[in-house]
Amino acid sequence: MSRGLRNPVQACIGLGSNLNDPQQQVMTAIERLDALPGCKVLRRSSLYRSAPFGPVKQDDFINAVVVLETTVPADSLLARLKEMERIQGRVLRAERWGPRVLDLDILLYGSETIDLPGLTIPHPGIASRNFVLLPLREIAPELVIPGLGALAELAVNEQLPAIQRISDAYP
Ligand code: AMP
Repeated sequence: MSRGLRNPVQACIGLGSNLNDPQQQVMTAIERLDALPGCKVLRRSSLYRSAPFGPVKQDDFINAVVVLETTVPADSLLARLKEMERIQGRVLRAERWGPRVLDLDILLYGSETIDLPGLTIPHPGIASRNFVLLPLREIAPELVIPGLGALAELAVNEQLPAIQRISDAYP
């Protein structure tokens, strides 16, 4: 029996890259998300540049967020995203905050709260990352995040490192 959902859900996916032409990596990944069976990219943010955090010296990241309409259950969607990361050449490294060709996160999956060993939704990093909050606010300003509240209020945290919006148009 198919595990597809009868009613589509709007999931928010965060993308990041800082290796091998990061801008192109992010744009390619958005195209691939749109081409996944049962998935359609409804909205995509501008591209943003953010400084890496953590102890590893590395290039800045390029980030974006998309709203993905999907009939794929959350756990299967995560498996698809991990496969995409692998295909785009992400080398799994021991260091936690190291550089990466592609990082894909399920930030939100409709209004669901999920707490499984390999999958936490809303993504636990949302409120502490401007490279998630600001692109998300650009494409879904009215969003209310389960357990955290209104995105509009979360996205004005001056304690968080600034990020730079680098383009609002895709080729
Ligand atoms: P990352 O280093 O960002 O690729 O994340 C590593 C692990 O986080 C993945 O292997 C996932 O199993 C786990 N994970 C937990 N919740 C999520 C989520 N909402 N989206 C993506 N990965 C998640």
